[in-house]
Amino acid sequence: NAPPHPLLAGITGAAGPVQRRAIAKAITLLESTRADHRAQGDALLTALLPHTGKAFRLGLSGVPGVGKSTFIEALGLHLIAQGHRVAVLTIDPSSSVSGGSILGDKTRMERLSVHEQAYIRPSPSSGTLGGVAEKTREAMLVCEAAGYDIVIVETVGVGQSETAVAGMTDMFVLMQLPNAGDDLQAIKKGVMEIADLVAINKADIDAHAATRAEAQITSSLRLFGQHGHPGHARHDTALWHPRVLQISALQGRGVDAFWAAVEDYRRVQSANGHLAARRRQQAQAWMWERIDAGLKQAFRMQPQVQAMLPGLREDVLAGRIAASTAARSLLQAGGFAPP
Ligand code: GDP
Repeated sequence: NAPPHPLLAGITGAAGPVQRRAIAKAITLLESTRADHRAQGDALLTALLPHTGKAFRLGLSGVPGVGKSTFIEALGLHLIAQGHRVAVLTIDPSSSVSGGSILGDKTRMERLSVHEQAYIRPSPSSGTLGGVAEKTREAMLVCEAAGYDIVIVETVGVGQSETAVAGMTDMFVLMQLPNAGDDLQAIKKGVMEIADLVAINKADIDAHAATRAEAQITSSLRLFGQHGHPGHARHDTALWHPRVLQISALQGRGVDAFWAAVEDYRRVQSANGHLAARRRQQAQAWMWERIDAGLKQAFRMQPQVQAMLPGLREDVLAGRIAASTAARSLLQAGGFAPP
């Protein structure tokens, strides 16, 4: 019997400064890429796992400026007043590309971030989207084990990060501006299709536009519903239809109605078994995602592959050998395919 991980007691212990430090240390450990840290991190995750799974995981996406942090602050304070503990984690794809961050530069959620019952963690500042998503996923488990019963995972609506967030949460919310409905072409349909709820923010600026957007988005969601979503067997029963709500994060309007819709969703999807199925499917998809990423990295590190790659790439570019033949040779050289 291995001794319990030193951080386990702190994380699962009483809320307070000691717990916050343990959480921060754990997440830092999990974000490290050093092999020995990775091994310690895996041991910690295994120890934490029995304490996880009880939180509701809410994903939220929207373009920069749509009002995500204003809304999360209003929602978070609302939930804390009801007795919840709220963790907010971020996946920022811009940080993985530029090392800078769309989300991180300004002070966000000032009131929520100083609250004892809230824990806010910005995106890891380096790595591929897959890597950043992996760390966020692991940070989510740490927060759950620490008793945060609502975990909000937020992302900027650029790139593939919405899919990553929808793939680690129980419910995915898309935030839109009131004028979004004017140009449905501009709305990334793939993102709309995975939304369980669409919140139209800044309804206070133009009530007329917000109402028009609500109608347009509602009808386009109905259209998606008729055709089904391959790969997202989530709205395949008539039990949950994605909803559209108008809110004003700035004025705190619609926060109650928003949370009522989330609770409806949670009730319906728990009762029909979809929530549990979604989590199982996510865990499995995630395992394969990480295996794929690990294999690719191992392949690229293989000395034989590194030696042969430049020459074969030239051959493919010059049309001397077929791309598939080059790939086969490299896979064989790396020991990833039978000779
Ligand atoms: P984020 O980039 O999505 O996190 O957006 P922010 O929450 O930082 O909001 C961007 C700007 O929009 C800020 O100046 C907010 O004060 C403003 N804003 C956010 N929500 C609302 C709203 O409901 N109504 C109005 N009028 N402004 C809002």
